[in-house]
Amino acid sequence: MVIPQLPKLVPWVRFPSPAPEFFPLLPLVAELRESLVQPVQTSYRLCTHNDRKAIAFAQALLYCLSIQAKKMLCLASTTVFKNNNLLMPGTVMKRLLLPVMLISPAAVLAADLDMANKIRHEGFIQSEVMHTLEHLTDKIGPRLTASPQMVKANHWTLQQLKDWGLKNAELHPFEFGRGWSSESASIVLTGPRQQSLHGIPVAWTPGTKGAVTGEVMLFDVNTSADLAAYAGKLAGKVLLMGEDLKIEPPKTVIFERLSAQKLTDMKDYDTSARASYESFMTKAMRDSRMQSYKFNKELDAFLQKEQVAAVIYRSSRQGGLVRVFGKSHRVGETFPVPAMIIEQEDYSLLLRMLDRKEQPKLTLDIKARFHDEDMKSYNTIAEIPGSDSNGEVVMVGAHLDSWHASDGAVDNGAGVAVAMEAMRILSKLNVKPKRTIRIALWSGEEQGLYGSRAYVNDFLASRPEPQDPAEKALPRYLWSSPGWPIAPKAAYNKLSVYFNMDNGSGKFRGIYTEGNVAVKPVFTDWFGPYSDLSTGTISPLSTGGTDHESFDDVGLPGFQFIQDPLDYSTRLHHTHIDSIDHVVAEDLKQASVLMAGFLYEAAMADKMLPRKPMPTPPSKVQQQQKDLEAAKERRLRELEGKKALDTKAVY
Ligand SMILES: [Zn+2]
Repeated sequence: MVIPQLPKLVPWVRFPSPAPEFFPLLPLVAELRESLVQPVQTSYRLCTHNDRKAIAFAQALLYCLSIQAKKMLCLASTTVFKNNNLLMPGTVMKRLLLPVMLISPAAVLAADLDMANKIRHEGFIQSEVMHTLEHLTDKIGPRLTASPQMVKANHWTLQQLKDWGLKNAELHPFEFGRGWSSESASIVLTGPRQQSLHGIPVAWTPGTKGAVTGEVMLFDVNTSADLAAYAGKLAGKVLLMGEDLKIEPPKTVIFERLSAQKLTDMKDYDTSARASYESFMTKAMRDSRMQSYKFNKELDAFLQKEQVAAVIYRSSRQGGLVRVFGKSHRVGETFPVPAMIIEQEDYSLLLRMLDRKEQPKLTLDIKARFHDEDMKSYNTIAEIPGSDSNGEVVMVGAHLDSWHASDGAVDNGAGVAVAMEAMRILSKLNVKPKRTIRIALWSGEEQGLYGSRAYVNDFLASRPEPQDPAEKALPRYLWSSPGWPIAPKAAYNKLSVYFNMDNGSGKFRGIYTEGNVAVKPVFTDWFGPYSDLSTGTISPLSTGGTDHESFDDVGLPGFQFIQDPLDYSTRLHHTHIDSIDHVVAEDLKQASVLMAGFLYEAAMADKMLPRKPMPTPPSKVQQQQKDLEAAKERRLRELEGKKALDTKAVY
């Protein structure tokens, strides 16, 4: 007998080590090979847990019985009953196989397998995900944090979730700062020739109080010392912020789906997968942030004193794409002059004119206003209450805020629509989860995860704030420490998992475990019923930059799925073309079904998900090591002479 044949035959079923009782069945299994493989595979796709595996296998046998292998199966079943602990955990086989053999295949589906089918049906056939996204993007439009449209989005999502039958729907407030919106903006080249240019105001910058015209001037400063050269020369000028960079032909594929090879590469073990995000913020990183913060303050004051008419930034993306950002939303830190981001191609034109001494002139007309009625912003929260009295929770979320350049369809209307659709599906199916399933639609993500951090801080775990009032007055990202130790609240031990979506609108190809590799077997099981929809790659890697970090930072399991990149990073992200046109409906349906499936499994699982250890501050040695590395990196950068003025958002 060749025992290793068995795992090869049905690799989807993870057997315990082959039991000797199985030996008599091996020749039969070999004969049944053709007829067994397909049904077992099909059944296993619909299964996740051990019990279900037993059912699946029995179901497969039964399937064979009904079609062609009646005689062989009778022999097989005789052997099975004689050695009734041969394949699966023994008790499961004993309990299940006899009744299963006596009833029809349709009747053996377990309740949650029914659920997997129901989720698919609701998510594919009755999908409302694009309808939801259309409302967010076409009807509400851009949702800049604390803008009137964001408030509208908060109220609409709250009402919609209530209408779908979710309970405990509420807006969770947190301190944010000023709101801002712009009704209209234009930029026209008025000399030496006439041409409309394409620009969008920088968020949280003032309007122009009517049209202003000024001569264009290059303003190329990297340090405080550079400012002196410009003193007394800038009044009424329109400044181009930073030198020209040659527009290179694009080298990357614009629209991408992950290849099998790329997915395989993501499975590689990586010891650098982070313990948490905040514990790896080094002193060197903070020092360099502090330096640019101080320089930016000095620069702001200088521009105001010199009575500059307006400043112009070059879009960070070519091909006519205007990619936006914002200045500070904090009270007392408002950028003093009107500011616009324009197309790279327009920017280059202006610089060529300057090179030729043709002295271009620009006329800008920006209508923009601040909203100071309410310094708070809001997260939309709602839930399907769990039936267990112990108060355990599973969560799904995405950020509802967007940038102001366009409708925020892929960043992050897509994530919001999928999270909402997953909740709609589960609510429509009238699920009765053991754990509460809660949705959170965050605000303030784009300015630094404000909403999700506030939620974690208010309800799950808090961290001490700086003692020094001067340090406390700084933006959080400039604090010298993220705050140790972390103080868990009562709900901390009740949250099993948080699933986030914020990597565009591509379908789910797997999941990042953020270094929490212990979840791998669990997630592998949960992908099971959907293995025809997704390869279900489980990656040990981390993916940062969005709201699951807020959970991960305090040691709570927070995850993002691996998504097909599509054209998220090459074109759409924060640009003026982030509209629903670029969303693939089938991808969003797939993501919604998987999200609903994962939420349901998480809510029904026997145990909560395993966690990484509670984050602790980096050790002295580790800190020194990181600082040395950072210092060396900085020296190298300076050597290369590539230090350019930081035109990124300051939050
Ligand atoms: Zn985003």
